[in-house]
Amino acid sequence: MNKKIALEEHFQLPSYQPDPVNLLGKITEQSYIAELGRRLGDPIIRLAEMDQSGIELSVLSLTTPGIQGEIDPIQAVRRARQMNDELFETFIRPYSNRFAGFAALPLQDPKAAVEEMTRVVRDMGFKGAMINGFSNNGGPEKGEYLDEEKVLPFWEAVAKLEVPVYIHPRMPLEGQRRIYDGYPVLMGSAWGFGVETATHALRLILSGLFDRFPNIKIVLGHFGETLPYAASRIDHRLQFHTRESRGKQKGKVIDYLRKNFYFTTSGFSHDQALMNAVSEIGTDHLLFSADYPFEDLREASTWFDRSPLSESDRQKIAYQNAKALLKL
Ligand code: ZN
Repeated sequence: MNKKIALEEHFQLPSYQPDPVNLLGKITEQSYIAELGRRLGDPIIRLAEMDQSGIELSVLSLTTPGIQGEIDPIQAVRRARQMNDELFETFIRPYSNRFAGFAALPLQDPKAAVEEMTRVVRDMGFKGAMINGFSNNGGPEKGEYLDEEKVLPFWEAVAKLEVPVYIHPRMPLEGQRRIYDGYPVLMGSAWGFGVETATHALRLILSGLFDRFPNIKIVLGHFGETLPYAASRIDHRLQFHTRESRGKQKGKVIDYLRKNFYFTTSGFSHDQALMNAVSEIGTDHLLFSADYPFEDLREASTWFDRSPLSESDRQKIAYQNAKALLKL
């Protein structure tokens, strides 16, 4: 199937290689890491693989943790601007019909994040932002989440610009890793990424953010990091807690997931997971994505093209929903 649009596709360039040998790097096959290195920064290799997979447009974003891992806010502001400029010059300007961008933003300094997001959306045609979970600010142990008071000006600007924000996983804070002791493989994309990101999304819902700004649109990868599967139990159990403790949100969690959230197929090539998302969320808020180069573009595309969807639903998830969301 041609014309697909993919939204969780990552890049990294030699000019900025944060966190080169992190814990996950040490326990990952070297051949896999070498392939990532070959693909992350090369538009030609990527375009050839997109052509083979029927992907017309890839929306690119800086690899996790990106700017969120910067502990110095001044450095975060400088690096975000540099990486957005380099994404534009390396990929978007030369191949503007094949690549688009999600901005990297320095949430350590929300005012600067607003300025940078406004700059790249208005002047360079970026389609929104990708934020890699909490932002370190002042040290590797310090993490700030997107529901915190200081981030409100950022959400005001998101609502005004009407662009989606993709919340992407990263590893948990160092002080919250005890549960993974002895099993560090569980901390990354196999499991821990999903726990971290799903919890972050629930923080946003319970903070009342979507009652305050009803038009904000959040994108989550990996079929919503288990949230479509878990939502009915979350709503069921919240009702037994006191009114003050169960959050500021007015509706049920599942209502916000259906209205304010979009979910991509990234990292999943599995019919049963797709069917669960379709039955809980419907097909208007599902979006094709691969998570290249961490996942194989052809495998993701081959699975999706043959998955048990009607042709009209397949077109919606492949590109129609993305076109509406990204205003293409
Ligand atoms: Zn990803």
